[in-house]
Amino acid sequence: MIERVSSPRRTKELIKKHSLVLKKSLGQNFLTDLNILHHIVDAAELNATKGALEIGPGIGALTQQLAEAAKTVVAVEIDQRLLPVLAETMEPYPNAHIVHGDVLKLSLAELWDTRFRDCSGVSVVANLPYYVTTAIIMKLLEEKLPLENIVVMIQREVAERMSAPPGTKAYGSLSIAVQYYCVPEIVKIVPPTVFVPQPNVDSAVIRLRLRDKPAVETDDEAFFFEVVQACFVQRRKTIANNLRAAFFRGDDRTRLEAVLASCGIDPARRAETLSLDEFARLSRAIASAR
Ligand code: SAM
Repeated sequence: MIERVSSPRRTKELIKKHSLVLKKSLGQNFLTDLNILHHIVDAAELNATKGALEIGPGIGALTQQLAEAAKTVVAVEIDQRLLPVLAETMEPYPNAHIVHGDVLKLSLAELWDTRFRDCSGVSVVANLPYYVTTAIIMKLLEEKLPLENIVVMIQREVAERMSAPPGTKAYGSLSIAVQYYCVPEIVKIVPPTVFVPQPNVDSAVIRLRLRDKPAVETDDEAFFFEVVQACFVQRRKTIANNLRAAFFRGDDRTRLEAVLASCGIDPARRAETLSLDEFARLSRAIASAR
């Protein structure tokens, strides 16, 4: 039987053998709890016909589990010092391919023609580096990669913002961006004790199930997100004040009031109370009034 990379003993041994000093600046908090790794892999619903794209394999704790559960694994690691460790830990797994690079700079779509061609579906599965969580998730969503699920370990607070419903404190432009493309579900809250070294925040495993089509219809997606951003510029201000500053500067009040009335939205409401559907109606009405 192949030894688990994630066991605390093996993790320590690999770090020592390769004289690794873990970099906080790269979010290097490695998982050493097999139970949590099982939660992550199970949530991704992999099988022997599926592909998994991992971002940041580290020394391979999750990569090993993915290689055993999926047909093909591609793992993108930025830190060159980890490549010899991964060569050692992934040696028994010819279906695991390590790519050296910054995931934010790579063209991921190419992987579907090269590595994932024969897979029946592909999911992103990762314990993400926390300093770039949002940038990575937004890249995956905006590039419209043909993904089934994104199952990631992230900071608990970010997971709560991604899954927050309207009318809650955590609801904001990140919730809307994520919920536009996906159905989010927090799978598990995870304490710092399962990592080496331990981060100073709680974490969460979240599953983002990609929708077949966006949650709401927009005529112009970019403008929809522009309107959402503008409405949240000053959270405590009313929707009318934020919209006036962004799109109706110098106008008398009547045009903005007419736009809001045509969507049935009270000008005194705050952005955090608007549903995706209301934002979609609002962005269409503003576009046609301009
Ligand atoms: N998957 C391993 C585990 O669960 O034990 C390591 C996860 S650790 C939280 C994050 C990993 O992402 C580190 O190995 C780090 O070097 C890598 N990383 C950081 N920024 C990256 C980037 N922009 N592109 C690819 N990998 C990155």
